[in-house]
Amino acid sequence: MLERTGVPTIKDLKSVMPSEERLNKGPVAVIECFQNIPCNPCYTACNRNAIKEFDDINDLPNIDHEVCNGCGLCVSKCPGLAIMVMDMAYSENEALLKIPYEFLPLPKENDYVRGLDREGKYVCDVRVIKVMNPKAFDKTPILSIAVNKEFAKIVRNIGMGDEDGR
Ligand code: SF4
Ligand code: SF4
Repeated sequence: MLERTGVPTIKDLKSVMPSEERLNKGPVAVIECFQNIPCNPCYTACNRNAIKEFDDINDLPNIDHEVCNGCGLCVSKCPGLAIMVMDMAYSENEALLKIPYEFLPLPKENDYVRGLDREGKYVCDVRVIKVMNPKAFDKTPILSIAVNKEFAKIVRNIGMGDEDGR
């Protein structure tokens, strides 16, 4: 499925998702990188060494979720937009997701926008908490969005259009 549609399967996602125990402790990176390509900016961006050094540039990233503090440095450096940060301890009912976002215009803080799943389908409305737009040419803007916890593992992008969010 991934090769044909670009959408990972549940099995793919389970293989990279931190444990429930770690998720409930606070912010942590989720790396949805499933293909062996010559790429390692996630490793070089991480100054906590949570992402282990690659033996081979084509390796998949190997993250220690217990060492990761969810700083988000790797999110804006990943050219594949494969990383997000999940914070399931954000509030009683909401999780905070930090997602890479390369569309224009960027949303504004406090906007309500459409939360989309990995196939681009509408899931639920989400609230934009913060917009980080680094000026450096090689960094991707990061949106912090508050999502009902029930949908936190499903929302992976946002849409500012109508109906199906495209
Ligand atoms: S979120 Fe921060 S600590 Fe975690 S893997 Fe990325 S760069 Fe490292
Ligand atoms: S930077 Fe992104 S695409 Fe490249 S290896 Fe790391 S997670 Fe995968």
